[in-house]
Amino acid sequence: MLATEKMRRMADLIAIAEARRRVLEAVRTLPAEQLGLMQALGRVLTENVESPIDVPPFDSSAMDGYAVIGGPAAELEVVAEARAGHPAGVPVRPGTAIEISTGAAVPEGATAVVPVEDTEPGAAPDTVRVPATVGGTNIRRAGEDVRAGEAVLPSGTPLGPAELGVAASVGRGSLACAGRPRVALLVTGDELTEPGEPLEPGRIYSSNGYALMGQAVRAGAELIGRERVPDTAEATRAALGRALDVANVVVVSGGVSVGPHDHVKAALAALGAEQRFWGVSLRPGKPVWFGTRGETLAFGLPGNPVSAMVTFQLFVRPALAALQGADPSATRTTAVLEQPIARNPRREQAVRVRLRAADGGWVASPTSGAQGSHVLTSMLGADALALIGPGDGEAPAGERVEMELL
Ligand code: AMP
Ligand code: MG
Repeated sequence: MLATEKMRRMADLIAIAEARRRVLEAVRTLPAEQLGLMQALGRVLTENVESPIDVPPFDSSAMDGYAVIGGPAAELEVVAEARAGHPAGVPVRPGTAIEISTGAAVPEGATAVVPVEDTEPGAAPDTVRVPATVGGTNIRRAGEDVRAGEAVLPSGTPLGPAELGVAASVGRGSLACAGRPRVALLVTGDELTEPGEPLEPGRIYSSNGYALMGQAVRAGAELIGRERVPDTAEATRAALGRALDVANVVVVSGGVSVGPHDHVKAALAALGAEQRFWGVSLRPGKPVWFGTRGETLAFGLPGNPVSAMVTFQLFVRPALAALQGADPSATRTTAVLEQPIARNPRREQAVRVRLRAADGGWVASPTSGAQGSHVLTSMLGADALALIGPGDGEAPAGERVEMELL
């Protein structure tokens, strides 16, 4: 690259935040679909869910025992049984008790449940001796969990096990969910070999095809294609053309720089994709390209494996979240540095760190070993990327810095 070109490029680099802003500005939330609860795990909710009922729907027993009228110790006649799903059908009157199971409706008239282990059989048949009992004991009130009309899940909530459980508890059998972004993943490079195949001289195994696949799927994407593309203009253009036609998001790694065998940018331009940025003031991950064709997003990520994963996390992941109507900043937090980290004079750094909980909150320390953009093992065990601002010297131990959670 000519020196002048290099200088021009440095001046053009935009900050991480600006790149992210341009990505999010281009995103339109995908249309929603109605999904049964069995299909909704991992999806993002696109409606506000209100409960039409009280949960629990009725006053119910928290224990196996006897439903009684609270009062002094007494010997009571057991007149009926209330089981879960089978109400007693008769009330508790003074001098009587109703045998009751956990989850059964508290019979009319009863004000407390005495646990079975606190009782003894009475002297007469079908009687029970109960100790003094305070009204309200061991009764779960209707609506203690959720009141009828209460909002339980806001739109934009990612649906995990607890959310599905709550939706089910209020009677919802299906939910409006955002569509999954359809992602086509291309890895470019004549040197790439599929793992499992023998390795010829000068070639390497394609790790990006798997690391990026994992990141995409974890971010809720549906992977609709995964292809290895040789370093020719024709092959690059053909593969990108196919991907742009079917995907919501095209992710391509490698071949995005300015070398004679880098064809991605030219191919995307020829296919009508409009550049939104090229080059971010980021280390690792400077040579990253983003553009759009219609509502389709295209990301040209660097080939270096760490750079590819870092730029996916910082730019593609927020896009996938926003496409699904989720909060793209849900993975942002802050932590305090455990040890100093040398700053880069010009570029913001994404340092792979482990987090540990301490008294004052999260503390971050770099993952062991080298942090070069080709040292993929530096991603192992990383909990977050610490975003270290540019400048002279170092970010000192104790400094609070922004974290992108992995
Ligand atoms: P490039 O961006 O195409 O110049 O590639 C930069 C570096 O990343 C080169 O050392 C490539 O061999 C390497 N690389 C590119 N693609 C992959 C991949 N899919 N898996 C592992 N390394 C890759
Ligand atoms: Mg290459």
